[in-house]
Amino acid sequence: MLVYKFGGTSVGSVVNMNHVKDIINTKNQKIVVLSAMSGTTNALVAISENIAAGDINAAKEQINHLNDTYNAAVYNLLHEASLRQEVSNYVNGIFKNLHQAATRNFNTQLHNSILANGELLSTFMFSRFLLQEGFNVAVLPALDFMRVDRNNEPDNFYIKQNLYRLIDSLPAADIYITQGFISLDADGAITNLQRGGSDYTATIIGAAIEADEVQIWTDIDGFHNNDPRFVNDTKALSHLSYDEAAELAYFGAKILHPQTVMPVRRLDIPLRLKNTMAPEAHGTLITNQTRGEGIKAVAAKDGITAIKIKSVRMLLAHGFLKKIFEIFETYETAIDMITTSEIAVSLTIDDTRNLEIIVSELQKFAEVEVEDYMSIVCLVGNQIIYHPDTPELFQVLQDVTIRMIAYGGSNNNISLLVNTSDKLETLQKLQRYVFKGYSVLVE
Ligand code: ADP
Ligand code: ASP
Ligand code: MG
Repeated sequence: MLVYKFGGTSVGSVVNMNHVKDIINTKNQKIVVLSAMSGTTNALVAISENIAAGDINAAKEQINHLNDTYNAAVYNLLHEASLRQEVSNYVNGIFKNLHQAATRNFNTQLHNSILANGELLSTFMFSRFLLQEGFNVAVLPALDFMRVDRNNEPDNFYIKQNLYRLIDSLPAADIYITQGFISLDADGAITNLQRGGSDYTATIIGAAIEADEVQIWTDIDGFHNNDPRFVNDTKALSHLSYDEAAELAYFGAKILHPQTVMPVRRLDIPLRLKNTMAPEAHGTLITNQTRGEGIKAVAAKDGITAIKIKSVRMLLAHGFLKKIFEIFETYETAIDMITTSEIAVSLTIDDTRNLEIIVSELQKFAEVEVEDYMSIVCLVGNQIIYHPDTPELFQVLQDVTIRMIAYGGSNNNISLLVNTSDKLETLQKLQRYVFKGYSVLVE
């Protein structure tokens, strides 16, 4: 069995839904994970924020606007009368619920149920479209099998058991459609896997059914060597290893949700990235194999806070680092980068929810400085710390203020901390000077 995931742009218009229909029209049985149509989740977030702010009129206006978009999509996608009526009724029901939600007291649960509607709409519409086109299709409601535990980790045992139970309870289908992104939490309430989470849904399902392959179909021809939103002339990479892809996704490459690689790496299931609008392009194949050499790709993650912890008296005393780490552990805050000198330890975090209390704990035995608006630029490649071209990196970046460096933590990764205001220049310089001359990237 295969798992295919289509993102927001891929299901974002009638034309693209037709592309998706052609792509999945192959002999293999498959589970197809869909995102919301592009723009929908952002619109639902805006609606929810207006409800939270008590601006009911603004929320209702946005709900009506989104409703118009869906009415037009239904009209253009479905011409078979009974299916069109069925989808129309479903869409009306969702928008009626949204109008009711606008008058309710706001809380996280309400927010999460509002956000879930995007994927519910896209999967309902698309499944009926496939029925109209003569496919043998069934819907697997994600809220009947997808669940995260109290640590927000997928509850793999529950997912596998309920997914198989659900499939067995339905007449056999060639194509099973399900919602990405949405899930139940440990208490059975609706939650989600964070923005961009449909990628993660796909690999969680891929692992649960031990799929032959998971394919993520999006609006670009695979993983590029730099962020195409900020840099021109980026190139698609034909292969990446799980570790390389995981590192790049974790450090900000938007093409993959940060956790996507984990479930498939565990079971050695190939992960393929493909372009819905150009299915003939090779895309990127992610496996346990490492190919090519030198710096292969760069990604950047914003919203980083640096914490410098100084203690002239204590630093070299054993137990000092332990004391620091224990504080971060107590307040469940992950550290991304760390460097030490004789009198200070500097580290970075991106989750600042407990920053204040962490700082006050650290101040009991050290001086603490905090700086925000930083970005981590992450460079990835096979054995890059040994590659003869790597030192050139520092010449290329001599005008950029590098605040911290992690070099040698692994052989395949170098991380640089820069001010976010310097990120663009850093990425562009790396593109112009480091990637010129690499020909191994595209097949
Ligand atoms: P989808 O809606 O299909 O999930 P996303 O917008 O989440 O699509 O991800 C695809 C986008 O990720 C691309 O259009 C591109 O702008 C962005 N992106 C950022 N970094 C990279 C990268 N290294 N390689 C490819 N795309 C990237
Ligand atoms: N629709 C969700 C989002 O926009 C999930 C996804 O697209 O992967 O974040
Ligand atoms: Mg995405």
